Amino acid sequence: MPRPISAVISRAALTHNLLTVRRHLQQSTALQGGRMPAIWAVIKANAYGHGIEPAVQAFSGADGLAMLDFVEAVRAREAGWQGPLLMLEGCFEPRDLDLVTQYRLTLVVHGDMQLEMLQTIRVPRPIDVFVKLNSGMNRLGFSPEEYASAFERARALQSRGVLGSVGKMTHFARADDAVGTGPQMDVFRRVIAGLPGPVSVCNSAATWRDPPLATQSEAQDAWVRPGICLYGASPFEDLTAAGMGLMPAMTLRSRIIGVQSVPAGQAIGYGARFVAERPMRVGVVACGYADGYPRHAVDGTPVVVDGYRSRLLGRVSMDMMMVDLSDLPALGVGAPVVLWGQGGPDVDEVARHSGTIGYELLCAIAPRVPRLLAD
Ligand SMILES: *Cc1c(COP(=O)(O)O)cnc(C)c1O
Repeated sequence: MPRPISAVISRAALTHNLLTVRRHLQQSTALQGGRMPAIWAVIKANAYGHGIEPAVQAFSGADGLAMLDFVEAVRAREAGWQGPLLMLEGCFEPRDLDLVTQYRLTLVVHGDMQLEMLQTIRVPRPIDVFVKLNSGMNRLGFSPEEYASAFERARALQSRGVLGSVGKMTHFARADDAVGTGPQMDVFRRVIAGLPGPVSVCNSAATWRDPPLATQSEAQDAWVRPGICLYGASPFEDLTAAGMGLMPAMTLRSRIIGVQSVPAGQAIGYGARFVAERPMRVGVVACGYADGYPRHAVDGTPVVVDGYRSRLLGRVSMDMMMVDLSDLPALGVGAPVVLWGQGGPDVDEVARHSGTIGYELLCAIAPRVPRLLAD
């Protein structure tokens, strides 16, 4: 028998979430009298842990897919995706450009090295690019001072037939908090003013809260880039995924494989972090940090056992964790456990108890956990 752990992936939930984001965007753009942007569904990091192939199937209604690993881009093509594929970090070395032309990939160009690589190549067909502006996050992109000349160099490559469409792009650092996209959007608008071509901005948080291109007349061809919300988790601290109408696409499931009766005063697990305050019944779950469950989860982190809410007791170990069954006397070995997802706690809730965000938990699911397709 394999261990009883699995990550159940719901393509129906992925499709539902894309539709939910699209509807929300439609409403907010209509309210502002703008045009509906196109959607790059972000499937980087193995589709946030869900698997490239199920994501490609479920997101057949997206306008494009975005990722940054060339292996994942090839997998998306091989899974049958015909539309645009955006490489969010562009190419890393000159030989990547062979894959770019072979698999018709769209590139982000964020630095001089990448422009230099494009200077020397011959291409069977022009490559579409987005030239990235560093509008304040200080991660990738040309500075506002450098941008016009980088864009001009890209346009020169376009007139030589090396590049096809040349667009403008930036990424927001604070779309999910009270500051929002405003300050960076001001920089972006100022720098790209008058430059032709499509525009791409907006992760999930900005797509949901303030899609800033809605009223912008120059944004004929706008693309947003939601990721996390497509997987049924929230980018916000003050708004849950359920509150956004999203459905969890990954359900991490396991079972109780042992039960202990622990007298009052005895400790549970490594380092004796949790001490039983009364005689307790403790269930051992076949799920540990080697499966991707966060070791930093605190005592009390929610877990659902056979539909009943329970809590983590003691430190998570490599392959197991302990949960409280004191008030659930009917449940024992074999009882189903949901660590997060449908019928269990929200992944964001587990993340909050572990000092991290849902993103990290979803993409940290270990390769040893089998992924099962639910629908
Ligand atoms: C990851 C990423 C996104 C998607 O971000 P979410 O917060 O998951 O929606 C969008 N754009 C870029 C450049 C990214 O790296």
